[in-house]
Amino acid sequence: MAVPKKKVSKSRRDMRRSHHALTRPNVSECPNCGEVKRPHHVCGSCGHYDGREVIATAAATTA
Ligand SMILES: [Zn+2]
Repeated sequence: MAVPKKKVSKSRRDMRRSHHALTRPNVSECPNCGEVKRPHHVCGSCGHYDGREVIATAAATTA
């Protein structure tokens, strides 16, 4: 088994981990169906973008 030459101190270890925090993705509300969606992206729930349907959904194709 490989043995580290020098032990990393708690301070150095924690300083390295100071960049490891996760950030929440931006979300906005779909004006058509109210589902949360990413800004500037087509709604994954209803397929609407910029006030019109750009991706046919299962509900729209059957109706
Ligand atoms: Zn929607």
